[in-house]
Parts: sequence; structure tokens; C-alpha cells
Amino acid sequence: MAAPSAPTADYAGRVARLRGSLSGQGCRCLVVSNRENVRYLVGFAGSAGWVVVSTDDLLLATDARYFEQAAAQMPCGRAGLVGRGLAEYVADYAAERQLTELAFEAENLTFAGVKALEAALCERSVACQLTPTSGLVESLREVKDPIEVDSMRRAADLADGAMRHARRVMRTGMTEAELAWRLERWLRDHGSGPMPFDIIVASGPNAALPHATPSGRTFAAGEPVVIDLGATVDGYCSDLTRTLFLSRLDAPFDSIYAAVLAAQRGTIARVASGMTGRDVDALAREALGADGLGAAFTHGLGHGVGLEIHERPTVNGRSNGVLADGMVFTVEPGVYLPGRGGVRIEDTVVLSSGRVEQLTHADKGDPVVAVKG
Ligand code: ZN
Ligand code: ZN
Repeated sequence: MAAPSAPTADYAGRVARLRGSLSGQGCRCLVVSNRENVRYLVGFAGSAGWVVVSTDDLLLATDARYFEQAAAQMPCGRAGLVGRGLAEYVADYAAERQLTELAFEAENLTFAGVKALEAALCERSVACQLTPTSGLVESLREVKDPIEVDSMRRAADLADGAMRHARRVMRTGMTEAELAWRLERWLRDHGSGPMPFDIIVASGPNAALPHATPSGRTFAAGEPVVIDLGATVDGYCSDLTRTLFLSRLDAPFDSIYAAVLAAQRGTIARVASGMTGRDVDALAREALGADGLGAAFTHGLGHGVGLEIHERPTVNGRSNGVLADGMVFTVEPGVYLPGRGGVRIEDTVVLSSGRVEQLTHADKGDPVVAVKG
């Protein structure tokens, strides 16, 4: 008997919701060029393809490299074969359907892309206005469906596994770059897709840089080693940071670690659907402020995660958006002492039935890794 096939995403439902937001904006036809938006709407993960969505049509325009596969696998709508170029193809489409307005994704389509589209429309004498839009598909992507959460859960499990691997293999004298490479290899060997971002391994004073690049610096006992990594499954990302210490935890990072951990756990315990991103950011900021560390927490608390490693919702002091069930984001307070080091602890979480459920679970209670002989 054939194995039951995996459940597939409700692409038709996603397109229907997009059509709803298009008509809400009085927009008849949208060209979707953002790769993750294309993947979200029709499941196409190739490097070249635009989706054209109108009230009565759904089309994936792609070239000969992808066309056959796209035509066979389109979950709804149809595939169109692009000959000369995407701009020419869309201009032909606008001419055929006598469109007077075409919306595009202003945050994604380049200036050159808009100019090419304008030129192709002009060449065909099509009087079609190009209208910039922002965040139409991205706002649908904010709330994940169970299939998306399942992929993210698996990406989170891989990140947890890599962090356990870090504890097994890290030693004094090992370089940041070596550990970063060993973790990336472990992730790929265990089923992760491409890394969602370059792994960060930052030790000693480098740990004071929230986005440090792994270097040839070697680990020493007692100093912080910030490890920030993630995996991808079905295109969906996870994001996890732990700060580990080889053999012992030296001052002042012993008390700083305790403060960051308490702020992170306290925030996770209190986040609820209906709060704004700013409310959540304030929970961690107040906790660290009470410990006299507010000024050293120099970035926002978190960010949405999904097909992209940074997406909606934002969770920082300027985030007025309301958090809702199905949203996936990070909680990652950090404290940085320039020239000395830093501590960041990050988990990826999902809001479910009003409360937070953690997707990443790597140990954070005991950050000290015993030195091996
Ligand atoms: Zn991270
Ligand atoms: Zn993050």
C-alpha cells in the first residue's frame, strides 16, 4: 500500500485571502515578484518566476528551466512560459487583457525592473498604470497555518540538535570559524536545507558584537561564546541563540547571564495574544532595566520568522502591530559590554491558544560546558 501523502498547504485559500486584500485596495491585478511570496502562494521555489494574481486568474510566469515542473506541480491556477523576459511577458499579458492598472511589490521589484516593465508596456502602446503596493502577501504570511508551524517545528528541532552538538565538540583552543563550520555541516548532514543566515560564533570580546562574523579567534575558559544558528525545513527557518562558557562562568558574565535568562524566561511566560510587539519588548527591557542593564540591551527583542529569517511581525519598541495566534517570532534579549563580551539567549516561539509555545528547546539552565581532556 502506498504511504499516505503528506498534507499539502492550502494554496487556494492563500490566493483567495490575497484576492480579498486586493479588492479591499481597489486593485485588479498584482504582480508578485518576491521569491518567498511566490513560494507562499503557489509552492514554487525556483529562482525565476513571477505570480500574476487577478480576480479571475492566477498565473505563474517562469522560463524554460522551470516551466515543465511548474506546469505539473501548480496547486491551483496555471503556468505561463516566459520567452524573452518577465517584463515582456507581463506586458503581453496586460495588453491581451486590456489592463489599465497593474500593481507591483514596491519593496521587491527593483527600479530597473519597474523601468523594464514601463518600457515593455510603452512598446506595446498599453496605457496601463503601474501602482506600488507594500506588504500585501507579507501580512498574510504573518499568521502561520499548522503545516507551516510543523515545518518550523522540525527546523527548530534541527537547531536544538546543532546546539547539543556544539556542547559536545567545543573545546578551548578551537576557533570560532571551526565551530561555525562544524555546526553548519552537522545541520546539513541532519537534513537542514540551506542555512537561513551565516552562523554566528562570537567569543570573548567578539561576543559584544550582536552580529559578529566567526573569526580565527580561539576559545578560552570562562569567557562567553555566543552561538546563533538556524535551520530550514521546506523553506521555513528557525532561529536559536545560546551563550555557552567553557569550564566556568567568570564575572561579570555570571550575573549578566542570570539577568538575561530571567528576562528571557519572564518575557516568554508573560507574552499573550493581543499584546503589541512593543508591549512584549517592554517586558524584557523593564526586567533588564531593573538589573541596571537596560542601556546594554542595544537591539529590539525579536522578529518574525517564517520563509524568511526576518519577517513580520516585528517585536521592538516601535512595533504597534498586535500579536495573534499563529504568529511565530523570536524572543532574544541580549546584554553587550563593548570590548569585554556579551550574552544573548534566543528562542523561536509560536502563539497558540493565546499563549506562547516554544519551538526551540535547547538547554539554557546550565551554560557551562565541561572541558574535555
Ligand atoms: Zn538568531
Ligand atoms: Zn533572531
